[in-house]
Amino acid sequence: MGTLSNTYFEKAKTLIPGGVNSPVRAFKSVGGNPVFIQSAKGAYLKDVDGNEYIDLIGSWGPMLFGQAHPVIENAVREALSDGFSFGAPSLKEVLIAEKIVSMIPSFEKVRLVNSGTEATMAAIRLARAYTKRDKIIKFEGCYHGHGDSFLIAAGSGVATLGTPDSPGVTESTARDTLTAVFNDLNSLSNLFDANPGAVAAVIVEPVVGNMGLVIPADGYLAGLRSLCDQHGALLIFDEVMTGFRQSASGYQGVCGVQPDLTTLGKIIGGGLPVGAYGGKGKIMDMIAPAGPVYQAGTLSGNPLATTAGLAMLNLITNDLAVYERLASKGESIKNGIRQQLNSLGKKYTINQLGSMFTLFFTDVAVNNFNDAKTADLNLFGQYFQGMLRRGVYLPPSQFESWFISDAIGDDEIAKILAASEATLTEMF
Ligand code: PLP
Repeated sequence: MGTLSNTYFEKAKTLIPGGVNSPVRAFKSVGGNPVFIQSAKGAYLKDVDGNEYIDLIGSWGPMLFGQAHPVIENAVREALSDGFSFGAPSLKEVLIAEKIVSMIPSFEKVRLVNSGTEATMAAIRLARAYTKRDKIIKFEGCYHGHGDSFLIAAGSGVATLGTPDSPGVTESTARDTLTAVFNDLNSLSNLFDANPGAVAAVIVEPVVGNMGLVIPADGYLAGLRSLCDQHGALLIFDEVMTGFRQSASGYQGVCGVQPDLTTLGKIIGGGLPVGAYGGKGKIMDMIAPAGPVYQAGTLSGNPLATTAGLAMLNLITNDLAVYERLASKGESIKNGIRQQLNSLGKKYTINQLGSMFTLFFTDVAVNNFNDAKTADLNLFGQYFQGMLRRGVYLPPSQFESWFISDAIGDDEIAKILAASEATLTEMF
């Protein structure tokens, strides 16, 4: 109360629906008002009232090396003097395409767009055109952006708001999206059997970040690959979150399964708005103007965004050890919070993979969306608020992954664990 954040939020609500430009930012499921951020640097966010927070969101994933990394900042400053947007080809688009194609195993060609949502929408249009089939299969709790076809049993902010099916999505669109259970090959196989010759593509987050973090079981992604092959459907990996977060070759480089199409976003923009989709040349060449499948963008390949993205990808390839460092930070945080909950005798599940992390307040192992939904949202809200008061900014929803950046060092890990200990002690 009486803070500038509250004042701004009250004003924002009169001008912007719900006061925010993306729903989960409004703190609806965790209670309280959102804090308004003034600036961000390294591991820290500073709000308009002068409070500092350790940033465990990193703008929902892009900030692999922390906020405002000097190399990316300088590259963008330099690019600014050449102009902001050309709407015509530029060399940086070719350079970033070359870089991405060299890093993602299944890519021969890539098309840049402006967001993850655009990338997934374009990828399913392309899959439908290529296979001449209409239906797609997604998994309950996976989020692929806010395109109509994906707002069916979606996770992330949609789960937070409790509106798995958004009004405004037509029944005929919803009919073409079938949903299966993640980590359950039988549920996918049954859908294929019930819809012979009708499924254009299966789209999946290979590691799910939008039910909270959910990790694929051993062999599960290879099982998806073979079911798709068996039924003539394309396999689309939505690596908007996992692309360059789990490794320099996406999660496909880790699991060794090659999808037909892959969507990217977040990290490839270095914090500026970018998305991309790519795959084999023979599929990608169906996109206009090479082929008949239309997809375009006023700001696509924007020079500032491609500059930031290229600087980010170069930082990664010059420092591949970053993934080991991130995994070790993730483990330290996991082990610390585990010890705290164990000594309080509380039941919980922590899913952690590299720098992605979720603490679920449930005693159920979380392997799919139904498991995630057993978590006690009230306890998560209390934990979130306690951490925020103690200077740690977590994703304001149980159904999101925390993102650890390389700017988080030993000091920050100690502060996170101290905040967690004090919060848990207060809660229990
Ligand atoms: N796909 C996944 C896996 C995501 O996590 C997100 C966003 O969080 C999207 C797609 C949509 O990306 P954007 O928010 O850039 O439209």
